[in-house]
Amino acid sequence: MTRRTRTRISDRPSPESGCRVIDIRYPLKYPLKNPLKYPLKKDVHTFTLPLLFPLNPVNVYFIPGEVPTLIDTGLDTELAWEKLVSGIEGIGYSIVDIERIILTHGHIDHVGLCGKILESVNTEVLIHPADEFRVTAGVEELVGMMERNARRFVAMGLSERDVNRIFRNYIKLMRRFYTPLSGCSFIEEGDEIDLGGLMLKVVDTPGHTGGSISLIDGEGEGVLFSGDHVMNGVATNPLPEMTADTGIGLMPYIDSLKKVLGLNPKLIYPGHGEAITDPRGHVEMTLAFHDDLFARVEGSLDRDWITPADLTSRIFPELIGIYASHVVFEVNGYLEALCLRGEAESKFEGGLVRFRAV
Ligand SMILES: [Zn+2]
Ligand SMILES: [Zn+2]
Repeated sequence: MTRRTRTRISDRPSPESGCRVIDIRYPLKYPLKNPLKYPLKKDVHTFTLPLLFPLNPVNVYFIPGEVPTLIDTGLDTELAWEKLVSGIEGIGYSIVDIERIILTHGHIDHVGLCGKILESVNTEVLIHPADEFRVTAGVEELVGMMERNARRFVAMGLSERDVNRIFRNYIKLMRRFYTPLSGCSFIEEGDEIDLGGLMLKVVDTPGHTGGSISLIDGEGEGVLFSGDHVMNGVATNPLPEMTADTGIGLMPYIDSLKKVLGLNPKLIYPGHGEAITDPRGHVEMTLAFHDDLFARVEGSLDRDWITPADLTSRIFPELIGIYASHVVFEVNGYLEALCLRGEAESKFEGGLVRFRAV
């Protein structure tokens, strides 16, 4: 359920930041390049399934062979189901041949059709334990978590009206497309998944969700299935974790991006968008974008107390409306990082969190 905005933000640098100017706008867009066919030891079939909300269609990956495996499943709609079934049949397999489903994370555009597949075949479902609640909790429990999450955005200074609009929409999507699974098995960092002739290693890449994982073949220069941790066409975004005790996602997200650089994949199969043929350039661009944003936050904060939302307006005066929430969340994350460095302080008063430079 990664969200996307069409809102363009001024790319004017804040005059006081003195930072390097890059084309900073949300969403961060990448030039599309033609995907290369990378010689993975197994064929990878990509089925791009439609969504009903404004985001690139979701990619699911089917790797046939000794243990036919599906990575992610798509949103639970008739259209997505028909496309998945016909895609798998088009290469001579059937839904009932799927022996394993690996979920890169627990968002409904990636797990939605899992239940429907399980109606046809009793296949193994693997997910990171930190995202288990996203696929097994009752819908009202998840709605309750989303409502608590909404309060965090109000505390950051976003208007109740905007927050209610954003979360009403998310809750509507959740109620419409979410069906809990009865159970699943867990995978985490370092686990190896044997596909029969191909070994995929699990890499924890938290940030987009707490339990986001990527999968890589081999030790380096391999192919990485990144889920929504790295996407093509539009930058992914860290999201606030829905559970109260697991913190928020910005800094883990940055660390996870650096981790991908360390893995040095040759090709990335993302959750959305075309295969990424220049993983290093792609991830470095995202990191540069964040470095620049961090510098702008640092350069814009002064001795006066300010909410993350007001600071966001100071940095990006043209950014308005419901999509500002992503930026406000990231600005809030950098303000917290400045506090950890001892360069800022925060206070919570009157239902609002405010920061100032020290
Ligand atoms: Zn997604
Ligand atoms: Zn997602």
